[in-house]
Amino acid sequence: MHESHIVTKHPALWNPMADDSHPAGWISTDAISLSNLIRQGIQPTPLLVCAGGTSSRCAADGLWTLDLRARHRQLIISEVGDEVEIGTGLTMAEVLKGLQAHGRSIPVGLSTVPGCGFVLTGGVGPLSRLQGLAMDHIVGLRGVWGNGNIFDLSAPANPAASTGTTFNKESHQQWKGLLGAAPFLAVVTAIRLRTQKLTPLMIWRAVCSVQQLEIAIEAAEQWTHSASLQWAWNERIELFIACSADDPAAMAAVQSLKTLLGHCAESSMTIVPGQHAQPPFGALATSTAAKGHNHSEVISRLGPAWGQRLPSLLKDLNQLIRERPHPGCQISAQQLGGMSSQVPVSRTSFIHRDAIWKPWINAVWNANDAEGRERSLDWLFHANSILTNYCPGVHLAQIHPHLSCHKAELCDAFQDWLPVLNQLKSHHDPYGLLPPL
Ligand SMILES: Cc1cc2nc3c(=O)[nH]c(=O)nc-3n(C[C@H](O)[C@H](O)[C@H](O)COP(=O)(O)OP(=O)(O)OC[C@H]3O[C@@H](n4cnc5c(N)ncnc54)[C@H](O)[C@@H]3O)c2cc1C
Repeated sequence: MHESHIVTKHPALWNPMADDSHPAGWISTDAISLSNLIRQGIQPTPLLVCAGGTSSRCAADGLWTLDLRARHRQLIISEVGDEVEIGTGLTMAEVLKGLQAHGRSIPVGLSTVPGCGFVLTGGVGPLSRLQGLAMDHIVGLRGVWGNGNIFDLSAPANPAASTGTTFNKESHQQWKGLLGAAPFLAVVTAIRLRTQKLTPLMIWRAVCSVQQLEIAIEAAEQWTHSASLQWAWNERIELFIACSADDPAAMAAVQSLKTLLGHCAESSMTIVPGQHAQPPFGALATSTAAKGHNHSEVISRLGPAWGQRLPSLLKDLNQLIRERPHPGCQISAQQLGGMSSQVPVSRTSFIHRDAIWKPWINAVWNANDAEGRERSLDWLFHANSILTNYCPGVHLAQIHPHLSCHKAELCDAFQDWLPVLNQLKSHHDPYGLLPPL
């Protein structure tokens, strides 16, 4: 490999496990040189990709990582501000900062730390019900397929109706594959997104009991789309409610829940100018004993409204939290529905459009504790199988080709779309440069 593409110094990564790994090396290059490198052959495979560097699989022992952070950093806003092109080396915080000066935004997650992997894998956040997923804002993608071919694709105005050479069945499948399954098919170097008007948010955070959580979930399942409930369950349970401050009906619904719940510890309600200023999620729930140098793996599930099954789910969660092998292990959830359910299943690889809840399980252990790792992974798989009963879908925000759950996760994430994704992979990544499907 030509030396000009190799980064000699180990770049810092947000994810501690990836940061502690010993990769074969780091590649930093533009799209044309990447295409040439792929044609010359990169060994060993898979080639890993690092955008924000927040997932456990952006770097691993003995493998190359393509680091997008140095060379793919453009942020180009259209004249009227309704579109932005971003290089995939930018974090969500950097994108929001660039848009803020123009009074624009894109819907991000509960943290602005993640990079463009967030957008490409779906991008669920407090505004998903009001504005859709981050992915639903993508209107153009540039990059390099796993076979080295360069692409530059734009979204069809109406994919269902599109015919002819400009957006035929093949282009439609490529587009659908890249929206939600890009990590298996291609390296995306630039994303064009629709932007939203920057709007103020009301955020209410509090610590609650299991009974109060049950009441909050029941209420949230009836809310208008301007409000969303997020919660984190660790040593304590944190409620994190976000609501468009411009919607009086939604604000009133949140206020009436606050009255219904009565006293909640550490309750605070604030209005922030946008997601760039939202308070941290999960801090009220976490145990101080979880601090230290830890590694973790996360599995995210997707499912319908819990309705009548809520008491049984909360009983199961209570038991799982009691059995957690490390104080950092946590189960949390985000609310979907509204705009995120309006996008046709045929349009993206995020096929669980009927999902109302995205619970995720965070399994944590002390770095270098091999037995602790086994215990936490056993707990992760056990919690995953219990949550599957309530949430049959998977949100593949983190990929786990190194864990035994990988195949089952792929099946639950993509269902009957998986065989077509495999066909796409056989065309666009025939030698398995990128992680396996
Ligand atoms: C603190 C924190 C908060 C989070 N909050 C949310 C949330 O609210 N909602 C939510 O949905 N998710 C959330 N996530 C999950 C996160 O969005 C996903 O794990 C996402 O994939 C991370 O992207 P990244 O670029 O930061 O990480 P990376 O580790 O760099 O990338 C993640 C994966 O995507 C692939 N990938 C990244 N960029 C590209 C590219 N340009 N082309 C091809 N493949 C690529 C990589 O192969 C890698 O496997 C959160 C994660 C963290 C750490």
